[in-house]
Amino acid sequence: MYRSALFSQRPLVWALVGLLGCGFLATSLLSYYASRASIRDSIVNTELPLTSDTVYSEIQKDLVRPILISSMMARDTFMRDWVVGGERDPQQMTRYLNEVMAHYGAYTAFFVSDATLTYYQAKGVLKQVRADEPRDTWYYRVRDMAEPYEINVDVDMANQDSLTFFINYKVYDYAEHFIGAAGVGLTVDAVIKLIDKYQQRYQRRVYFVDTFGRLVLTGAEGGPQGARAGQSLASLSSMKDLMEKLPKPAIGSYEYSAQGEGHFLNVRFIPELNWYLFVDKLEDRALGDIRQSLYLNLLICLLVTLAVLLLLNRMLRGYQRRIQALATVDSLTGLPNRRGFDLLAVHAVHEANRDTQPLSALLLDLDHFKQLNDSHGHLAGDEVLKGFAQVLENSLRQSDVICRWGGEEFIVLLRNSDSAHATQVAEKIRQHTEQQPFTFADQAIHVTVSIGQTGLQADDTLQSLIARADRALYRAKQAGRNRVCSEQGKSSYE
Ligand code: GH3
Ligand code: MG
Ligand code: MG
Repeated sequence: MYRSALFSQRPLVWALVGLLGCGFLATSLLSYYASRASIRDSIVNTELPLTSDTVYSEIQKDLVRPILISSMMARDTFMRDWVVGGERDPQQMTRYLNEVMAHYGAYTAFFVSDATLTYYQAKGVLKQVRADEPRDTWYYRVRDMAEPYEINVDVDMANQDSLTFFINYKVYDYAEHFIGAAGVGLTVDAVIKLIDKYQQRYQRRVYFVDTFGRLVLTGAEGGPQGARAGQSLASLSSMKDLMEKLPKPAIGSYEYSAQGEGHFLNVRFIPELNWYLFVDKLEDRALGDIRQSLYLNLLICLLVTLAVLLLLNRMLRGYQRRIQALATVDSLTGLPNRRGFDLLAVHAVHEANRDTQPLSALLLDLDHFKQLNDSHGHLAGDEVLKGFAQVLENSLRQSDVICRWGGEEFIVLLRNSDSAHATQVAEKIRQHTEQQPFTFADQAIHVTVSIGQTGLQADDTLQSLIARADRALYRAKQAGRNRVCSEQGKSSYE
């Protein structure tokens, strides 16, 4: 099974991933929270208050003119003369109201006489005002109030009950006796259009709430959850969290969650209307961009971490290969050492078993090597070992496994070789060694080799194979050295 180089270096990898991950995460999150805080700050302290300021000033602008017109109507001498003169010829009043309405672009113009309780408007006499009619309560309120006028938002009966701002001005005769109420009405369509414009352009919700917490004016699409005028905020499920923080409308900035989403809310009071203006912004829309950049940031961090790991993996693999090579090769002869042999031998034995092909082992030990070292010196011994390794390599095939087993002992595995062939090869090696003088410092050194030979058997392990070869070698030494001995399982021969 393939295992990456990183697998062997798990602690290092974890430390690296931890370091990179924590570092990247910390900087990403820090910058995310910093920009989030500044965006929140600008929404709560600048954006939303600015919207409500603008909406408020638009409303004021729209209301100031009608108030002025109504005030002039209340002081108009024709109006007062006509009432004091006994309200004769209603057409005169109707014409007057029609002039006001047409000239000043009002939605309606009206006069209610206190003497006759007649409701006059531009199109004629509308009706008689009655104290027991709920729709007429406004008149009795105006009659009894101390202020010169009020602004009332009500449905206009004369205009298909559409929502209208009424300016109700008190009218007095020349002796300061109350003689009726006059004024103009203007549709709130303009305000609704304004609300819609703000909602669409700035992605925020704008609506008005009365002091009891009921919606009074919304954009064309309605208030939260599409609620219509008249509905109380407390009855909306999405407003539950807000209602806990704000049971009654009050000026201020609030944060609440509705249907799993965060909201920023600015509430301001509009004294002229006795209403509260709510400007609401979804947190998600505002923070979506920076959340996206956070995800992008994290993705880049992930890619960088992966790239670092990939590089590290390649580097480690290179090192591992070099270390492995160093660890499996004998530095003197350049042959595989015992560790290298183990790797190669397992493979060779496996192959021989799989393909049911013969495999032979030779264990070789130079004779009287101690003496050679003693008489010619250790360096001469080294040179002989190198030379002998060369003899082995020259005598064997590329496919055979040759290894320096330790000291002056070598081991060879001959692939696809039965004992007869292996013994031949061993004999060839023995002869070569005997005949070939090794040279060191212009000295010819003669050396002989004893070889134990054995073949792989069905129930063999690598250990049992080598042990048998070792026994054969022992016998070769015992028999006088410089010879090849074989041992084949239970039956053995020389
Ligand atoms: P025998 O015929 O019984 O094998 O006698 P021997 O002297 O070869 O046997 P022994 O195992 O007693 O001696 C092996 C010697 O090989 C001892 C050791 O100093 C020497 N030797 C082992 N490795 C090296 C090496 O790398 N270089 C040199 N120069 N000598 C080595
Ligand atoms: Mg030895
Ligand atoms: Mg020896």
